[in-house]
Amino acid sequence: MNIWVTYSRRKSHCASECGLPIKAGDPIVVAKHFKEVSDTKRITLYFYKHFDCWVKDAKMYLQQNPFVAAGNHTGRPKTMNLSEEDKATRLKLLQRKACLDQQLRKKLKIAEPELKDLESIARIQSQLAGVTLEIAQVGGIPTSWIEDMLN
Ligand SMILES: [Zn+2]
Repeated sequence: MNIWVTYSRRKSHCASECGLPIKAGDPIVVAKHFKEVSDTKRITLYFYKHFDCWVKDAKMYLQQNPFVAAGNHTGRPKTMNLSEEDKATRLKLLQRKACLDQQLRKKLKIAEPELKDLESIARIQSQLAGVTLEIAQVGGIPTSWIEDMLN
């Protein structure tokens, strides 16, 4: 797979979850895949994502596949050894957290104390706590979440 960054020259749709249109001139990441369709024939597939969506997806990928430092200095970094089912659960929890984080940021941005929706903020925070407890069961709490909590 080849990946590069460019400006979109034409309209297309973002291959990320956002699914929104890409306009000519938008910064995008292009991924080029080769797909074998027969022994002699292969086709080239292109995927386009908004630059920011690509970064978001890449961060998600890294969260899903946390770096595990080797216990000694000779080993290679390993990814988590989870069942397919647990991986799917973990991905859902990571997405849920990203969604809740976004909602929370939006609520917290309101500067006027009397306009702050404290009830919603408390609800989102308790949902986040629930997600954290759940992910602890499927591969552990990501380091970045722990850092978030300490900040
Ligand atoms: Zn997008």
